Amino acid sequence: MTHTHAFWLAGRQAAGDDTFDVTSPWDGRLVGTVSVPTDGQVEEAVAAAHAVRAEFAATPAHVRAAALDHVARRLAERSEEIAELISAENGKPLKWARGEVGRAVSVFRFATEEARRFNGGDAQRLDTDPGGAGRLALTRRFPRGPVLGIAPFNFPLNLCAHKVAPAIAVGTPVVLKPAPATPLSALILGELLAETELPAGSWSVLPVPNDRMPELVRDERLPVISFTGSGPVGWSILESVPRKHTTLELGGNGAAIVLADWSSDADLDHAASRIATFSNYQGGQSCISVQRVIADASVYERLVPRVVAAVKELVTGDPSDPATDVGPLVSEDAARRVESWVREAVDAGATLLAGGERDGATYAPTVLADVPSGVQLACEEVFGPVLTLSRAEGEEAAFAAANDSRYGLQAGVFTHDVRAAFRAHRALEVGGVIIGDVPSYRADQMPYGGTKESGTGREGVRFAMDDYTYERVMVLTGL
Ligand code: NAD
Repeated sequence: MTHTHAFWLAGRQAAGDDTFDVTSPWDGRLVGTVSVPTDGQVEEAVAAAHAVRAEFAATPAHVRAAALDHVARRLAERSEEIAELISAENGKPLKWARGEVGRAVSVFRFATEEARRFNGGDAQRLDTDPGGAGRLALTRRFPRGPVLGIAPFNFPLNLCAHKVAPAIAVGTPVVLKPAPATPLSALILGELLAETELPAGSWSVLPVPNDRMPELVRDERLPVISFTGSGPVGWSILESVPRKHTTLELGGNGAAIVLADWSSDADLDHAASRIATFSNYQGGQSCISVQRVIADASVYERLVPRVVAAVKELVTGDPSDPATDVGPLVSEDAARRVESWVREAVDAGATLLAGGERDGATYAPTVLADVPSGVQLACEEVFGPVLTLSRAEGEEAAFAAANDSRYGLQAGVFTHDVRAAFRAHRALEVGGVIIGDVPSYRADQMPYGGTKESGTGREGVRFAMDDYTYERVMVLTGL
């Protein structure tokens, strides 16, 4: 028996009339039952966020920093229990779930530091033009207004942390909406926020069903939307509320490029190991997972067997076992979709080098070569443990192949050549270029986000703080 988890309405626990179950994608067991807020409760949370916005903006930085620091410390103290919960509700292998909790701790720590130094202001003399004699402009940033944070299932704690911590750091209320498959870690985050002195109404965690989200999205009292999730949902939100300030962190089909100079046995072993790990890391369900490997023709033949061997070494199985590298996908439906995309590629002439089997929600780590352009695996986001290998004749062709995508989140470039690194930085149409590693590297303080269909706006604690606020200038006259 599991008890029903309450949600968090304006800083206090509440229960609605209805519930839904959260089950493990690994064995289907019930992980928790979650209460669903009624329309009236959602209205109450939004009204509270709206009402408290001026008070929260005026809350001293040291109070907000202390709250953020408290959450960081409590996440660290409860890390093992929370990692087990993430693993249970998401199917993520325990070792990756532990890593996720560690990252969420970092997000709250970065936000603690940023809260203390944010909004120092900037002064600009205006007497550089005759009309500005005796005038001075002071610029400070102020919150745009309460934030609606919408999170996906794949990092159920850390991507909620990325919505909530920057909001507290700038003193703007936040209504957090976790993914239906994985609300439990967000509700624990609520427990930790409830231990702080933050004003009532400044935060809520509401597991609102998807069919009721359009109304919440349109609510004018939530002028900022920070959305992480799939492209179709994200872009439809932007279309429905074009005047809101909306950040979209969407999908990708990340490329790892191996240039000709990355050619020693040790280089190729290292690249193969990183590629294998980060194309299968949490079942490939990461927006910056390695989906496409583009290797210079001079190293391709030596890289392929290494990648295949490294992929075959990965341990697939029970996510609660600390030795497991690859667990199930979020659902059997997700695994069936991946299976059908691989079948489509093979039917169109691709060569299957590893994997290709499904067992329930678990899809085996899979490697394909010679994938024809035009099949879904070549141009869409697979969001599963599947890797495609292709060769390019030289650096320019490799960069062009990486850019031949509707997406542009991050790219990885294996090279030792600093000039090639700068050329990659200039040429690749992505939000982040990772030199000497896979595209899957993300540090939580750096700017993070995409180009093209991968989204708009940037996350990363300080960058989200910029996003949640705007510059307001004050001109002093007669000085
Ligand atoms: P999803 O789009 O199905 O759901 C994301 C969130 O949106 C969930 O909370 C969901 O309940 C909510 N939602 C669904 N319909 C809605 C609507 N009509 N209005 C408002 N909200 C609605 O995405 P998912 O399957 O949970 O996550 C996987 C996707 O997220 C992948 O495409 C992945 O690449 C992307 N992602 C991107 C990043 C990034 O930072 N760029 C990070 C992680 C995941």
